[in-house]
Amino acid sequence: MKVERRQFEVRGIVQGVGFRPFVYRLALSHGLKGFVRNESSCVRIDVEGDSAALDSFEALLPDSAPPLARISGITSRDLKPAAYHDFRIEESGRKGETISQVPPDAATCEACVSELFDPADRRFGYPFINCTDCGPRYTIILSVPYDRPFTTMAGFRMCPDCRKEYENPSDRRFHAQPNACRDCGPSLRLCSPDGSDLRSPNPPADAAAALAALRIAAVKGIGGFHLACDARSAAAVARLRERKKREEKPFAVMARDMQAVERIAVASSREKALLRSPERPIVLLRKKDGGGIAESVAPGNRFLGVMMPYSPLHHLLLSSGPEALVMTSGNLSDEPIAFGNDEALSRLGGIADVFLLHDRDIETPADDSVSRVVAGRAMVLRRSRGYVPAPVFLESDGPDVIGLGADLKNTVCVCRGNAAFLSQHLGDLENLKAREGFAQAARRLIRLLDARPAIVAHDMHPGYASSRHAAVFAGAARIPVQHHHAHVASVMAENMLEGRVIGVAFDGTGFGTDGTIWGGEFLVAGYEGFERAAHFRTVRMPGSDAAARQGWRMALSHANDALGDRGLGLAASTAPDAQSAEIAAAMMKSGLNSPWTSSLGRLFDAVAAVCGIRTCSSFEGQAAMALEGAASDEPCEPLPFAFEDKDGRLEIDTRPLFAEVCRRAAARVPAAEISRSFHDSITDATVQTCLRIGSRFMLDRVALSGGCFQNALLLDSCLQRLANAGFKVYSHCLVPPNDGGISLGQVAVVRGILRFPRTK
Ligand code: ZN
Ligand code: ZN
Ligand code: FE
Repeated sequence: MKVERRQFEVRGIVQGVGFRPFVYRLALSHGLKGFVRNESSCVRIDVEGDSAALDSFEALLPDSAPPLARISGITSRDLKPAAYHDFRIEESGRKGETISQVPPDAATCEACVSELFDPADRRFGYPFINCTDCGPRYTIILSVPYDRPFTTMAGFRMCPDCRKEYENPSDRRFHAQPNACRDCGPSLRLCSPDGSDLRSPNPPADAAAALAALRIAAVKGIGGFHLACDARSAAAVARLRERKKREEKPFAVMARDMQAVERIAVASSREKALLRSPERPIVLLRKKDGGGIAESVAPGNRFLGVMMPYSPLHHLLLSSGPEALVMTSGNLSDEPIAFGNDEALSRLGGIADVFLLHDRDIETPADDSVSRVVAGRAMVLRRSRGYVPAPVFLESDGPDVIGLGADLKNTVCVCRGNAAFLSQHLGDLENLKAREGFAQAARRLIRLLDARPAIVAHDMHPGYASSRHAAVFAGAARIPVQHHHAHVASVMAENMLEGRVIGVAFDGTGFGTDGTIWGGEFLVAGYEGFERAAHFRTVRMPGSDAAARQGWRMALSHANDALGDRGLGLAASTAPDAQSAEIAAAMMKSGLNSPWTSSLGRLFDAVAAVCGIRTCSSFEGQAAMALEGAASDEPCEPLPFAFEDKDGRLEIDTRPLFAEVCRRAAARVPAAEISRSFHDSITDATVQTCLRIGSRFMLDRVALSGGCFQNALLLDSCLQRLANAGFKVYSHCLVPPNDGGISLGQVAVVRGILRFPRTK
């Protein structure tokens, strides 16, 4: 037998996901000798043996890798045989050299679920069962390397049985850091809101019974507490809304299994795959009529956020209680999610009737992630538990950089080497608690990655809390990045685009370089810079920030812009009363507290108000979502619009469009038809604008970003019609199109500037 030796470098998400034991088993089964080792940016495998065995090993390496591994590339080379004696898992390379990969939390795998419900298994009914392929990770890690003593499992000493599994490379629990059983691991208890132990012999079953009796339970999960109630009971949901002070924002539902999902919503095979993925996000699905979910769960909404159980505790809870539970973040209105036992008791004591607690601490809170399938592709809308902190890989290397994001749907992003690590969703930085969480998350991410950011990127908005936070990084250079440039750079980065593209950034609000509020932008952009090639017509925002939540103000503004005083008269009925309308109109005319905006999000709000769909929003994007939900499935008569050339910059004139919307609304054309016409006309305007810019700048790639592209109808039609017009079109998949992706874009812009310095 001729002995050959081959060395492989495997890149991607291959550390902390059971990759080395997998390689170990694969090598042993092929009779190969050598080693496997984690290195700074790869896993190195060195094997020697029979050449046919090496070929088979090489072929199986990518295809049979563990479920949580994401291989982005494998290189191999032949070396002179080294006469290895055995195959071993070597310790990691020198400290400081490694860019530690902290694995994301993964939903309970099928093997663990079947053990959980197998009366013969030693972990039957044990709510903390896990293995190398599943279980908590990011949320329990205190520091790196990812090893049990540096997790919140440190205090639990493994019993001999668990230890045996943990140390056996051919066991499914080899080096599963949270490995535990009933004898040695964490345990549950059921408590009353005052914290007293109810001494339940079976906490999940008793909690399920309380839920079936329409009580509200606080349930400690993986990334924090949920507030749960029976999703089929209008009374239970109403009580939860009242106590949580959350009027209309939709609640997510956790369904027992796929049959239960299909009873309440319509799910395609792609959506089902997403529901079952190890990331296990909330997936936005089309609600089924008569599915039995209380209307108040997602009032006036055609869509329903649905997820499947992702921790053993969820499986136990749903196996005996209601088959569909509201599972919403354990917080009060807009505060961050509660994740400590005492904190939860004090903050949620007035909301929940019972508390299902456990003693495995959550080190880092992480909300549930939210995804949606558009044009057959998954798009993440809120990137948190399950996805974080898996990196987004960039095209090239550079110094450490941190991006601080924007003030809404904030995330921060630390870039080391070619890997950009985004934090969990940190929410809106309006309140103190959220700002504290943001500062802490930034510190923690830097520490986990052992990063030394030389440059801090932040939004250009001088009033943003995230921008002001840049001052904390003493000694680091600060680079402000325009908001929509960051949006475009984020979608470029995740698609690894180089050079210049037509960046279409549609959202609610972002500070422009001219001091106005942008949000309907066409940028000719590379990472290092951009030119504002076109935008929607600029109108007043009477009442400034108030106009973002009160769509009727934007209706007045657009109506006034399109039709003057006659328009004001037409739109006045959308205002809560005549006096408010008068005040807003006066503000607009004098310019007092009425900044200019080209925001497409605000145009959506205005159209929703005039159509009678929604004149006020209780949360960001509510009116636009309702407008999308109302749209007819059939194409309708398009709306007119015009173009105006303003010193070489193109302006999409929305006046004819809005005048026609007002006319149709007055003529009682159904809102479904107006909404559909509006969506299609925006797509039309987008395609025509891109064609003009494309021929002027010789560009044929379009990158779509911004919160408006959470709208499936708009995104789907833009993708199709731009492609039909001959463009290569790119959209989001790995990071959110909304401001949750801004931090990645900021980092990509700074890296671009370093490579290609801006020339003025
Ligand atoms: Zn498992
Ligand atoms: Zn044990
Ligand atoms: Fe934005």
